[in-house]
Amino acid sequence: MSTAQLHSEGGRAPSIHAARACIEIDNVSLRYFTKQGETQALAGISLDIAAGEFVSIIGQSGCGKSTLLSIIAGILSPSDGCVRIDSKPVTKPSPRIGYMLQQDYLYEWRTILDNALLGAQIQKRDMKEARERAMHLLEKCGMGDFINHYPRALSGGMRQRVALARTLVTNPDVVLLDEPFSALDSQTRLAIADEVVDVLRSEGKSVVLVTHDIGEAIAMTDRVIVLSRRPGRIKSQHLMRFPSFGGGHPTPFEARSLPEFNTYFATLWDELDVHVEG
Ligand code: ADP
Ligand code: MG
Repeated sequence: MSTAQLHSEGGRAPSIHAARACIEIDNVSLRYFTKQGETQALAGISLDIAAGEFVSIIGQSGCGKSTLLSIIAGILSPSDGCVRIDSKPVTKPSPRIGYMLQQDYLYEWRTILDNALLGAQIQKRDMKEARERAMHLLEKCGMGDFINHYPRALSGGMRQRVALARTLVTNPDVVLLDEPFSALDSQTRLAIADEVVDVLRSEGKSVVLVTHDIGEAIAMTDRVIVLSRRPGRIKSQHLMRFPSFGGGHPTPFEARSLPEFNTYFATLWDELDVHVEG
């Protein structure tokens, strides 16, 4: 077992912070029922995520990553088990939880600022306050000069930054990111990762990032959870620690050049057990 590996199959994965667990995933399983039959997507997932912690979930396509995020978001109900946020069971979507998807879902006919305000409008927030926060967040995401532009004038990376600002305008405590950069080219992904982590950390959010990109998981998060093939179970988890950096968090870009990065990469690659088919 590697020094960074905490648990193997089955056990409850504890949070790394002493603070109260912000998200508790308690023995969650999910079965989908369709005309073709039953698909068990998740089996017995238990995981605690502390307030302010950054966790990533990696696993092969179809292992249940998006299903797990939808359960945390309150969009899907688990077949067994339960998710609690600050000890309260999640039964439906809540403003405390922000969910950002792979596609940016920006409205082409709304300006960048108006797109960023969409969630606040739906939640009937104080719009003066929301506007100020949207401007502040767009500025922080490097989009300050574009607030009156329309999405069509923006690159993919810029659109994702707007989508992130929109997710954060309503100030959710928990931010769920489902492969948010997978539509971007690799240079843009690298550039945007630093900004996204910076914004999320400075906002003190608890973050769950789903990705199939091992490097992204290592560079961006405090802890990497590996799911097995379907039905998804927790196969192992690994704390990302960079002693060679000498304290504090390296940025994702810095993390990639540290010796620990390659060690973690090799370990996680083995864990993922990737096979090229064909
Ligand atoms: P991942 O995000 O890891 O790629 P998903 O959570 O999307 O995986 O899906 C897990 C499994 O559940 C897959 O086998 C998928 O085909 C199945 N699945 C996902 N959504 C549904 C659904 N709405 N109905 C039936 N099966 C589904
Ligand atoms: Mg998915």
